[in-house]
Amino acid sequence: MTPIAVLAGNPGPMTGEGNWTWLIPGRVPTLIDAGTGEQAHLGALEEALAGARLEQVLVTHAHPDHASAAVALEERFPDARFLKMPWAERDSRWPVRWEPIADGQMIDAGDSQLRAVHTPGHAPDHLCFWHEPSRTLFGGDLAVRGSTVYIPSKLRGDLADYLASLERVIALKPSRLLPAHGPVIGDPDSVLRGYLEHRREREEQILAALRAG
Ligand SMILES: [Zn+2]
Repeated sequence: MTPIAVLAGNPGPMTGEGNWTWLIPGRVPTLIDAGTGEQAHLGALEEALAGARLEQVLVTHAHPDHASAAVALEERFPDARFLKMPWAERDSRWPVRWEPIADGQMIDAGDSQLRAVHTPGHAPDHLCFWHEPSRTLFGGDLAVRGSTVYIPSKLRGDLADYLASLERVIALKPSRLLPAHGPVIGDPDSVLRGYLEHRREREEQILAALRAG
């Protein structure tokens, strides 16, 4: 499987150079994450498709930089299907016919299959997509090289869920992680374990501060 990185063209303080979306060419051309509907993204996507139809868009979670282009993509690719794990209050903001993905579901993509891995914490609906034969994980916002991941408590972020999701992904033993922000992570194990260690340190600092009164 050779996914093609397609930059969403939405640079900003929260997105870095802009979101990476991933096109998996093959029998079932599949885009992972929708982006924000920038013209540059739609053009780059068409170029990457090289004449193939876009069969489906798998969305990692309902944050706007990952999901908000659904309507623009549906206009450009009327036959495409849109799939994600449901988050009713948020999904209705991007009114396309969302099809639900359940944890563990196998999804045809490219010339192979991906497994949906529910990884809540950053968002309650967050999914990673796991390609076991190549040990590739499409990580969404689970990890960003050089940074920690924001856990927005007002948007149902949950640190305990996030830590459990990290453990869950570490257990898969991925050899590379294709993120939505920043460079490809070629050593997922050390990056993900680094996050666990960082959060443990923070907890100890808080406990020490409490003990000090
Ligand atoms: Zn996000």
